[in-house]
Amino acid sequence: MKAIFLDRDGVINRDPGFGDYIKSWEEFQFLPGSIEAIKKLTESGYEIFVISNQAGVSKGLYPQEALDEITRNMLKAIESSGGRVRSVTYCPHLPEQGCNCRKPKTGMIEGATKGFDIDFKETYFIGDSRLDVGVGRNAGCKTILLLTGKENQDGIKDWPIKPDFIKKDLREAVEWLLKQGQG
Ligand SMILES: [Mg+2]
Ligand SMILES: [Zn+2]
Repeated sequence: MKAIFLDRDGVINRDPGFGDYIKSWEEFQFLPGSIEAIKKLTESGYEIFVISNQAGVSKGLYPQEALDEITRNMLKAIESSGGRVRSVTYCPHLPEQGCNCRKPKTGMIEGATKGFDIDFKETYFIGDSRLDVGVGRNAGCKTILLLTGKENQDGIKDWPIKPDFIKKDLREAVEWLLKQGQG
């Protein structure tokens, strides 16, 4: 089965900036081309799993219901454009809670893909942060880092774990990815 993992903030929608969170649907803005990219992945037969840390829930910055509303509306917009997301998985915990799901740990990936036949070596994790590159690597996936604002080429030089590929945004990453294997 062809699968792909996507982080949410900074991949599908605009990242709110360092230390901040998307606290309501009003604050959620799709990045240019992201809905179209998800549609293309869907049409190419990919099962799409969204994997996102949302510690703002445990910090009390927004309730679980707000997160659920964001998810519902995001999926509605994606589906009405012809895309399909298999599941959206969040870690609501704080780093110090020591859960097994917060990226770069792989608990969310394991939970979301239970029962699916996935060759992780052939699967990409696309994200915009060091944690995304970390969780992708920990799960045995290939990683694509998007430079949508959070990171830049210079900062990556010092990372102990480097992304396999770097792209501008989800649109560029998906166009590139779908060209692979077409000979
Ligand atoms: Mg992100
Ligand atoms: Zn967690």
